[in-house]
Amino acid sequence: MSEDDEAAAYWEAASDGTLVVPECNDCGFVHFYPRRTCPECLGNDVSFIESEGTGTVYSFSVSQQAAGWPEDALPLIYATVELAEGPRMVTNIVGADPEDVSIGDEVEVQFEETDVEDVAIPVFTPVE
Ligand SMILES: [Zn+2]
Repeated sequence: MSEDDEAAAYWEAASDGTLVVPECNDCGFVHFYPRRTCPECLGNDVSFIESEGTGTVYSFSVSQQAAGWPEDALPLIYATVELAEGPRMVTNIVGADPEDVSIGDEVEVQFEETDVEDVAIPVFTPVE
């Protein structure tokens, strides 16, 4: 991926309902966040692969207030989710009561639309 499109392709895929993660074509390391250089071998041959969009809650915290955040969208659950492919991503858990969220819970991706064209935000919700 080129310097210009390393993040754009990620957001575009998200707006199409697909979570992609970077994979190193030299050493095979799958990582996150999107970047041109592999953090494992420092190679520059990185391309996106489609994630299954599933993972587990690695850690989380709950915020009862957040500046500028709509009150009806509180509490806000910040989480680090470990994807099935290995890398961990910082995200939000939605559609869940904070009392019911535990480390190790299985979650799956969904996407929240934004006002920006070709940009959607991946968030995660518990797998029933
Ligand atoms: Zn590598």
